Amino acid sequence: MSLIEAEAREVLLRRRRSLSDHDGPPHGDPAARWSDYEAALEPISEVVRRELADIDAALTRIAEGRYGACQSCGGPMGLQRLRALPEARYCLACSGHYPSVE
Ligand SMILES: [Zn+2]
Repeated sequence: MSLIEAEAREVLLRRRRSLSDHDGPPHGDPAARWSDYEAALEPISEVVRRELADIDAALTRIAEGRYGACQSCGGPMGLQRLRALPEARYCLACSGHYPSVE
């Protein structure tokens, strides 16, 4: 595993853990029910769910040795971009063509 992969993996695992921590009803409020919580936070949950999927996909690419290549053109993502956005699927040029993914 290269240094940038090890770094990205560390960042991704930490983000994944902090995102997962927000899953579930708030503690210490006996009146809070799971269904109320879910209804109130649904838009946030959707964002978190997508981010978790992106993080998992990036971790899979690291594990399979495909990390750092653009999913669209196959070109290198560039160190700066990977540092700024470890879960990015596309290089800067291609992400312009897919504004919805970022
Ligand atoms: Zn690309």
